[in-house]
Amino acid sequence: MTAVPADFRALSARLGQDPLQVQGPGGNTSFKDGDVMWIKASGTELAEAETKDIFVAVDRERAKAEAMGAGDGTCKATVLDPENTLRPSIETTFHALLDWKVVAHTHSVATLVHAISAQGRAAAREKLAGLPFVLVPYRKPGVPLTGAIAERITAETQVIILESHGLVCAGESVEAASDMIAEVERRLAMPVHVAAAPAPATAPPDGYVWEEHATPLACDPRLRALALAGSYYPDHVVFLGAALPTEPGGVSVVCAEGVALKSGATSSQTAMLRCLMDVLGRLPEDWTPEAIGLDAEAELLNWDAEKYRQALAEKSSA
Ligand SMILES: [Zn+2]
Repeated sequence: MTAVPADFRALSARLGQDPLQVQGPGGNTSFKDGDVMWIKASGTELAEAETKDIFVAVDRERAKAEAMGAGDGTCKATVLDPENTLRPSIETTFHALLDWKVVAHTHSVATLVHAISAQGRAAAREKLAGLPFVLVPYRKPGVPLTGAIAERITAETQVIILESHGLVCAGESVEAASDMIAEVERRLAMPVHVAAAPAPATAPPDGYVWEEHATPLACDPRLRALALAGSYYPDHVVFLGAALPTEPGGVSVVCAEGVALKSGATSSQTAMLRCLMDVLGRLPEDWTPEAIGLDAEAELLNWDAEKYRQALAEKSSA
């Protein structure tokens, strides 16, 4: 079997090490070589693409068949080496679907700023004019999202904005995909417009540590209201739960003076809190972000929607 090319590993690592592109184990990249597609394995980090074996080879045609509804959609059955214990990313099906050699999917902060509001999506359409680009509505990552992508792309599509989720860029070479990412990032770049807030003067709740970079999420009235109102993209839900709570107990807590994470929070949880600050801190005043909603959250956490509502209600009245 062919090896994973060094320049593709380097691109993957560069994206993974940039918190404005990828946070924790989020995002994934793939490389097609004939019938073989190398895809990031589930739970691994792109940041480690040059130092660890994070890619798994799958049968591209069989993975593409799963994108069109065959199998269970996990692509586990398409892994070529039966000895390999890595599982292909949940997003493998859309990589297989795209007829481009290199596909990179990020949770780009600049893209998220645009992708979570109607005003932002309208602005993105204008800014990306002339690029081979489509916008795809929110769906649960996996086969549902792949289906929505399949309905909208053409053979020319190289840029996909995933509503309330992120960015996909593709090209016939590592360089072409990398250039496309750079072009989209250049066009969608957003300045931070929230002033840094003073560090909290009080002690955090017992067992918690202040995350000083996120202080504006507590102190800026607009950002605080947004952080408490809901979740805006899937990985936030997966790593931090739904809206940020104002009572200690979970991983994060929004107090009057600052935001704290439980001592021993994982690097992925820390990265996701930073991501929320990075996204909301760039949101123009007149853009109104839409939370993904309780049904989408329940779906991501594999909860029955009604049970999820009850659990949230119990937590908020506790
Ligand atoms: Zn994703």
